[in-house]
Amino acid sequence: MYNKKSKIELKKSLKRESFNRTTCSFYKYCFIDNPEDLRNKLYSYLIEQDILGRIYVSKEGINAQISIPEHNVENFKSYIHSIDVFSDIKFKHAVEEGASFIKLKILVRDEIVAYKVPEESYDMNKTGVHLKPLDFNRSIKEKDAIIVDMRNYYESEVGRFKNAIIPDAHFSKELLPTVAKTLEGKEDKKVHLYCTGGIRCEKASSYLIKKGFKEVYQLEGGIIQYAHDMKKNDLKSEFIGKNFVFDDRMGERVTNDIIGKCHQCKTPSDNHKNCKNDACHLLFIQCDKCAEKFKDCCSKACNEFLQLDIVTQKKLRKDKNKKVSSAKLSTKFRPKLYKLFNYWK
Ligand SMILES: [Zn+2]
Ligand SMILES: [Zn+2]
Repeated sequence: MYNKKSKIELKKSLKRESFNRTTCSFYKYCFIDNPEDLRNKLYSYLIEQDILGRIYVSKEGINAQISIPEHNVENFKSYIHSIDVFSDIKFKHAVEEGASFIKLKILVRDEIVAYKVPEESYDMNKTGVHLKPLDFNRSIKEKDAIIVDMRNYYESEVGRFKNAIIPDAHFSKELLPTVAKTLEGKEDKKVHLYCTGGIRCEKASSYLIKKGFKEVYQLEGGIIQYAHDMKKNDLKSEFIGKNFVFDDRMGERVTNDIIGKCHQCKTPSDNHKNCKNDACHLLFIQCDKCAEKFKDCCSKACNEFLQLDIVTQKKLRKDKNKKVSSAKLSTKFRPKLYKLFNYWK
C-alpha cells in the first residue's frame, strides 16, 4: 500500500482538484499494540478520503501532519475519534493555508519523535504541566521564569519567543542532552517549553523532570495553537517571526518580524528552501535577490551542475569521487540540516 506516482504527476493531479484543502496536525502518546495494523488501516481510509500528508505510527503513539479535502474534514475527525485510543485527540489547523503535501506517507517508526534517548531517561506518566496560550503568556512573565525553544536550531532561526533560550542542536537526537546541559544549575527555575505543535515538549518535559527540574511547563498545542489564540483574542504575540513547518510550505507567518538572515548575503530573510539541485537538496535560507542570482540553488556550484545535461548530471551523481558536493557556504550546519530535513520528509 504505497503511492507510486511521480512528483510531477502528483502535483498535476493536485492542481486539477476542484475543492479546497485544509492542513491539520495531531499527535498522541499512547500504547499502540500493533503499529503495522494501524498503519494499514489508516492508509486504506485516508487514501479513500483523498487525504495527503505524513504520519508516523509507533508503539508509543501517533504523530500526523496532513492535508484534508475540506468536505472530508468532519468525517475524518469522527473516524479518528472512533479509534479507541484516539478518542480524545485534539486537531490543530494551520495558521496559514497553502499547498502542504503532494502525497500520503504513513510510516511505522520506533519513536514518534526521533529523540533516541534511553527509555529509562523519561517517564511518560510524568510530563510537564500544560499551559494554554494565554496562561503561558502570563506565566513566562513571572519571576524565575525561563523559556526554552524545544526545536532544532534552524527552526528558531526564523521564529522564536522573545527571550527564549535557543539550544545549539541540529539533530533531534542532540536536542534533549543539549537542553539539559544548557539548563544545568537552573533546576529550581520555572522552565517553559514550546515547540511547533506540542509533541516534542511532551517527552522533553518528562526528560527534564527526571533530570531533577522541579517546575516544567509546556505550551499546549504549540506555536500553532498559540498563533491562533493570539489572533482570536487580538493580543500581541510574544512569538515573533515564522513558525517553521515540515511540509512544502516550510513556514507559517505569525508576525511580520523577519529575524532570519539569508545564508548567502546575510540580509534579513526568513525564506527556507531546499537547493534546486536535487543532488544537494540542502535546506537553507535565501533572499529573493540571491534566489535570482543563484537560480534557487545554494551555490554557484549547484547552479552550474544544473546547467549540465541530464546524462552528465546522472554520471556525476553516480561517481562518488567526483560527486558534486553542495557549495562551500560558511554555515557550519549545512550537511547536518540536509540529513535532518530528509528524516522528516
Ligand atoms: Zn541573499
Ligand atoms: Zn546546493
